[in-house]
Amino acid sequence: MSYAKTISVGLVGVTGHLVEVEADLSIGLPGMVLSGLPDTALSEARDRVRAAIVNSGQKWPNRRITVNLLPAALPKFGSGFDLSIAVALMAGAGELPLAPLIGVALLGELGLDGTVRPIRGVLPMVVAAARAGVSRIVVPLANAGEAALVPGVRVRAVDCLHRLVAFVRDGAALADPPADPPAPPRDGPDLADVAGQALGRRAIEVAAAGAHHIALLGPPGAGKTMLAERLPSILPELDDESALEVTALHSIAGALPPCAPLLRRPPFQAPHHTATIPSLVGGGSGLARPGAISLAHRGVLFLDEAPEFNGRALEALRQPLETGRVLLSRTRGGTEYPARVQLVLAANPCPCAKPGGDLSCECTPLARRRYQGRLSGPLLDRIDMQVTLTPLRAAELMSAGGAGESSAAVGERVAKARAAANARWAGHGWRANADVPGPVLRREPWRLPRAQTTRLRSWLDSGALSARGFDRILRLAWTIADLDGRDRPDMGDVDEAASLRTGEAR
Ligand SMILES: [Zn+2]
Repeated sequence: MSYAKTISVGLVGVTGHLVEVEADLSIGLPGMVLSGLPDTALSEARDRVRAAIVNSGQKWPNRRITVNLLPAALPKFGSGFDLSIAVALMAGAGELPLAPLIGVALLGELGLDGTVRPIRGVLPMVVAAARAGVSRIVVPLANAGEAALVPGVRVRAVDCLHRLVAFVRDGAALADPPADPPAPPRDGPDLADVAGQALGRRAIEVAAAGAHHIALLGPPGAGKTMLAERLPSILPELDDESALEVTALHSIAGALPPCAPLLRRPPFQAPHHTATIPSLVGGGSGLARPGAISLAHRGVLFLDEAPEFNGRALEALRQPLETGRVLLSRTRGGTEYPARVQLVLAANPCPCAKPGGDLSCECTPLARRRYQGRLSGPLLDRIDMQVTLTPLRAAELMSAGGAGESSAAVGERVAKARAAANARWAGHGWRANADVPGPVLRREPWRLPRAQTTRLRSWLDSGALSARGFDRILRLAWTIADLDGRDRPDMGDVDEAASLRTGEAR
């Protein structure tokens, strides 16, 4: 036999596609040609495959070798085809009976010594294989845990090429994925740690309930970061589909631990203000790495000290925030990653950032305006809530007794509010109040009685409130009503919404 074929999986964005690997060996000048639109990493595969075969004690065929990856038009990234290339090649040379591997997808990078090394993106690859009808799959040992998350697929793991050869020739055992159910993920920080801070706690709860983007303003020590970090702890768990999607993105980033459990909690990403644009939105050579905004998909993206971010970096986030998707360059076959996040911005009122706030500030009024101006425009435009927090006073700390309500208790109210909003908007395709366009809330049947909006309309007329600001207050009022179990917002809900919008304490 001088021809053999194996199957593997390639990724474009989060979508996997079956790839057929053909090897043909003919009489002629010894050498190896790889074809099928491989990127540079794939041409390096030639050297790895050769060394791995020889160093596993196998014979390298001294013939003219052609390896072809199909479909040719599919862009192929990464090193995950090594194992399937090596097996096709040895089988084509007549060194390996292929029968035990018919219909089995092979994933893995080869080390020069023949070890099978972990690759990024195994979870979405196995999902794609299963959808394409592949029911058996061989993966690197370190990826076995995430591969086993996909139902309906028999996963076997290998640590070296030699072991796979022994399995095919002699029926030697391959490793099973770890049998123990993975430990539940460690719980993140809890809202119970936040003492006092009634306004901040309420703001975070309302943000969670309506999926509103929020800006937390205030001097250092006002608890902005503490509150932001605890937002995921009060958001509902991810449903099956979202959990798989989120875990797949972390798999592509290579950010899953070996015993990967399905990520059930909404993720939290807090990129530093010096973060590069690729680390925020994605990029890099080979299989593009998802950026922070995609790793925060279905969770929270927290930009601490937001005015310190590079203007171009903030601009790069604008489009993904609008569409919920990141589109990376066309040279990558239009790689697209989901990026539906809840945004939390935190900002000091000025560049000097004195803990005492305005009283001890040494900045000129112009410097303060400039600093705050960096956030204006497209990003701030999408934010429903701007809340100004003040540092906790000793009296507040003592009277609060040190402990606040727990995330579990707050999360229960949030879940009820989300269910109410979901039921109301389900027919329109919106999931949460933050998704509802302003004009809808100003029309029947959702328009509020005139008496409830008198004050807002007078602000609007005097120029103290913009039309967008008006809509934001309406959205927030609906969320507050949902939280408190009312069918429609009442006067008090509108008042509270207005105070959360403008950041003034009630
Ligand atoms: Zn200052």
